[in-house]
Amino acid sequence: MDQYELWQVVLSDIEPQISKANFVTWFKSTYISSKKEGVVSIAVPNAFSKEWLENKYNKYILKSLRETSGDIRGVKYIIENKKPAPVASQQTTTQNQQSVSDAQLYFEELEIDKETNLNPKYTFDNFVVGPSNELAHAAALSVSKKPGVLYNPLFIYGGVGLGKTHLLHAIGSVLAKSGKTVSYMTSERFTSEFISSIHNKDIESFKHKNRNKDVLIVDDIQFIAGKDQTQEQFFHTFNDLHERNKQVILSSDRTPRSIPTLEERLRSRFEGGMLVDIGYPNYETRVAILKAKLKNKNTLITDPVLEYIANNIQKNVRELEGALNLVIASSKLNNNEISLEQAKRVLSHITNKPTKPINYKKILKIVADFYEISEKDLLSNNRKREFVLPRQIAMFLMRSELSSSYPSIGEKFGGKDHTTVMYACDKVEKELDKDNNLEQEINLIKQQVYMD
Ligand code: ADP
Ligand code: MG
Repeated sequence: MDQYELWQVVLSDIEPQISKANFVTWFKSTYISSKKEGVVSIAVPNAFSKEWLENKYNKYILKSLRETSGDIRGVKYIIENKKPAPVASQQTTTQNQQSVSDAQLYFEELEIDKETNLNPKYTFDNFVVGPSNELAHAAALSVSKKPGVLYNPLFIYGGVGLGKTHLLHAIGSVLAKSGKTVSYMTSERFTSEFISSIHNKDIESFKHKNRNKDVLIVDDIQFIAGKDQTQEQFFHTFNDLHERNKQVILSSDRTPRSIPTLEERLRSRFEGGMLVDIGYPNYETRVAILKAKLKNKNTLITDPVLEYIANNIQKNVRELEGALNLVIASSKLNNNEISLEQAKRVLSHITNKPTKPINYKKILKIVADFYEISEKDLLSNNRKREFVLPRQIAMFLMRSELSSSYPSIGEKFGGKDHTTVMYACDKVEKELDKDNNLEQEINLIKQQVYMD
């Protein structure tokens, strides 16, 4: 594992343990600068971050580094800024340094269970159910009552920040309480543990550890795609558990069919269970979620402020929560109930995010990345199946999102005739009616196109 990978694993470890706002604020511009004689130097952008990481998060970082790498003696924090952070986020930090540092006060020392890796913060009780997630919620609840029998595996998919991880932990916690042995991990963690077991020539204990559970939960399984040996290992783990009616629970940002380079045999295993999606919460659900999050915060935030947040943040529950936390921090700071006007000011960097105009280059890049093909192939005349559909989707999106004319789209694709483009757009539209999977894929692509 190189430094970059090591840090990615550590970050994916820490992220679920702290709030999104904290995570973004303190970890966004960090990286491992060097690792010498067991001492890891972590680069941070400024003195303020250095102080916070040293005082608040050192324990987490050290623990995770040690679990991941083994030969770690210590951690140093150094101020270094090779990779300038995106302008927007720097502004956010300076503008909100006061309020965000106040937000730290709410940092809860969460007891992540060492055996199971489950986070007790996520329960069924505090999961708000609405039309966008009721099916996923119902399936999760059934599995927590009757593991290994009904839906195996349970596969929950949907976009970022919509509650997949929350449900996974909720199921795990119920089952752990009922005496089952449970293990939760991200697929990155599965991968890195597998890799270190190869290094340490200890694959047997890796196998034993995972197969010796009643319930195995693997979050964000899409990241296993393309890693052949890990997929193979996971396949055997899966079969072993499945044969013995042990419950497997998985999440992903898309359906098994839409994960490129996922081995066919894994795909068919995943599809052999229960597939449920989580969508965007509607307005009522968003308000209910805000109210639920407010419950144990011991602050009063008025309904108009909550409604303002719910109206302005629509596509990601994590961001919804982040906005609420900012407002709470600001009201604590002022020792006062926050007015709607104040709330608008505090949230202006989120709500007035300059919506960067999207352009066709961005669409091409995101479509190519999504389907894991090169932009060159996307733009070529190559009629291979794996290129044709992405190409048609890119054309479709340029038409629907940019209102580009058919001839100008054709031009971007190496001078194709406008009728070819028309045919492509037409075809995608027709397919969309028939194919839920395609709809999901296009939604995910759009989500990325509109993300900054
Ligand atoms: P995902 O894994 O889908 O990216 P998470 O499960 O991490 O999303 O959810 C992001 C945040 O939003 C978490 O803090 C989670 O508790 C919260 N959240 C998402 N959906 C709900 C919900 N329906 N009710 C309460 N909180 C939710
Ligand atoms: Mg998640």
